[in-house]
Amino acid sequence: MLKYINEIDPEVAKALKNELKRQEEVLELIASENYAPMAILEAQGCVMTNKYAEGYPGHRYYGGCKYYDIVEDLARERAKQLFGAEHVNVQPHSGTQANMAVYFAVIKPGDTLMGMKLDHGGHLSHGSPVNFTGKLYNTVSYGVDEETEMINYENIMELAIKYKPKIIIAGASAYPRTIDFKKFKEVADEVGAYLLSDIAHIAGLVAAKIHPNPIKYSQFVTGTTQKTLRGPRGGYIFCFKEFAKKIDSSVFPGVQGGPLMHEIAAKAVCFKYAMTKEWKEYQKQIVKNAKAMANALLDNGFKLVSGGTDNHLMLVNLSDKDYTGKDAEEALEKANITLNKNTIPFEKRSPFITSGIRIGTPCITSRGMKENEMNIIANLITRVLNNINDKSVIEEVKKEVLKLCKDFPIYPDL
Ligand SMILES: *Cc1c(COP(=O)(O)O)cnc(C)c1O
Repeated sequence: MLKYINEIDPEVAKALKNELKRQEEVLELIASENYAPMAILEAQGCVMTNKYAEGYPGHRYYGGCKYYDIVEDLARERAKQLFGAEHVNVQPHSGTQANMAVYFAVIKPGDTLMGMKLDHGGHLSHGSPVNFTGKLYNTVSYGVDEETEMINYENIMELAIKYKPKIIIAGASAYPRTIDFKKFKEVADEVGAYLLSDIAHIAGLVAAKIHPNPIKYSQFVTGTTQKTLRGPRGGYIFCFKEFAKKIDSSVFPGVQGGPLMHEIAAKAVCFKYAMTKEWKEYQKQIVKNAKAMANALLDNGFKLVSGGTDNHLMLVNLSDKDYTGKDAEEALEKANITLNKNTIPFEKRSPFITSGIRIGTPCITSRGMKENEMNIIANLITRVLNNINDKSVIEEVKKEVLKLCKDFPIYPDL
């Protein structure tokens, strides 16, 4: 493995080998990550990285695009079939660029955009002041209900009526509950706004029909392939047919140049995988595992934001503990358990410290782990956090983590 990199660049080769080892030896609980299957890695390292294919199938600005058209058409047809969409653009380099292309297509700088607050689970590209959305647009944000810690649709309706956004974004990066896209559509219709549903996190669950599909309620649906979908890093945009031209020209030449055709080849493979029965079972297992993990953590005395989970992730509220989200992240990392500190709704600490951690099950489910392992992992997390300053406990947990990882390899062929 890495024969050629080894020859030309031993330093990078070494980092790559160490990274493979790190991935194999760590329990990865970051909710936005996953392990791309070998076929996806193969596509990402293929000769389609070599060519410019500006434009779209049948209308390219460069010659020699015969096989690029085949691959992009396959990606598009499969994506449309999988999600039941009228039109798709598979060229966005990332989820953020997919969102950017939608905004540039239908709203103007200074227009009002409404999305979920970052510290309530929203994404940077939904109006955060540090993101281009916060700089270019007038932003209004909605949060979760203080009592239930779930989205309050009446509150969103009130805000929308008051501020009259041009576009409303439904979707989140750290929201453990089912999103009611139909209700968002009612709000958008009431005030004449476009609805953009951003399914970056939950795309896999949506494709497997275990989360409601926003396609028929939203003029625009954006997402990524690298999260629950378990594909390459990249984005896509679905839209109603009437917006097809606008969206395509907003992606190219609007916000991008040449498409990453090796990534698009990998997206095509990803969508093909997503049509198999096995893959649907995998998505179901992600959710079953999240439920098992949530129940085990509750049993161990932890509080969860909204009290539980409907999807692939949960947020642990540590505000009743004598350590912060940052402390928890650091202690767990020493035991080879990686996750991220995360703000909780109505957070009192800074985003660098936080009072919460986010836990997701896509990666450990990709390793083949089931409910039994979830109980084991929840207990390992509890042991570390209940003994957060005890080096010997952390060492013992690390040994058990290593053993568990060995029993569930990610890439036995690498
Ligand atoms: C991850 C995410 C994105 C963007 O993904 P990138 O590919 O990192 O740009 C967009 N929206 C939501 C809700 C996300 O969770």
